[in-house]
Amino acid sequence: MLNIDKINVSRGRTHVLHDLSMEIGHGEIISLIGANGAGKTTTLRTISGLLRPDSGTIVYRPDTDQSPMDLARTPVEGIVRAGICHCPEGRGIFSQLTVEENLAVGAYLRRDKEIAEDLNHIYDMFPILGERRSQAGGSLSGGEQMMLALGRSLMARPRLLILDEPSLGLAPLVIEAIFELIRTINGQGVTILLVEQNAVMALELSSRAYVLETGRVTLSGPSRELADNPRVRNAYLGGE
Ligand code: ATP
Repeated sequence: MLNIDKINVSRGRTHVLHDLSMEIGHGEIISLIGANGAGKTTTLRTISGLLRPDSGTIVYRPDTDQSPMDLARTPVEGIVRAGICHCPEGRGIFSQLTVEENLAVGAYLRRDKEIAEDLNHIYDMFPILGERRSQAGGSLSGGEQMMLALGRSLMARPRLLILDEPSLGLAPLVIEAIFELIRTINGQGVTILLVEQNAVMALELSSRAYVLETGRVTLSGPSRELADNPRVRNAYLGGE
């Protein structure tokens, strides 16, 4: 579905990503783990077109019967229209808008007649959002805001959902609920790319993972194998 081949990305004068390559297959959950400043957010922002690589290609094929496109040369709107939805770190909720208005923002590029139906589907999936539909987004708890961010992303009918630190600032039980929802979303046919500081949970949820160190992929493979790898255990899993 997504084939990133040797991208180099700079931010200002800093060369952040070095010949980074990654592959994501249709229907997978892939996690990207690494220390602060390793370049995880930079990778996500480059896929969604908010940053442009100096070199390399990002070939995306939304469906097996569709022709591939190079995201490195596609305008952001084209990337969104092609089914890539980026749920940013900090969630990006509009705190003054109501829950329902926030959800409507997710559908801003759609012109089809199924938006109301999808809204009901979101309320079925996240009943708390239905109960709070007229409440300001900013008045929700952290976990509810994360659900709103997921719901808003789903309103765009994504093929590839990019999640940057969904567990940030949430209590352990809430994190578990959010991860369960991510699993459900994946079960509905959405491919997921997940960036997480919480490597334990990320490796449990994903089928494969990439480890990023100072802008380079240093390890990759099935998540279970990485979870058993002593280097990963020491660096990211608290050395258990
Ligand atoms: P974190 O978990 O802390 O968000 P990260 O792995 O997502 O870390 P990035 O945010 O991608 O890391 O940052 C990678 C590197 O790029 C860091 O060294 C950071 O200081 C640098 N960087 C990020 N934004 C800019 C910017 N606007 N200008 C210059 N350098 C930047």
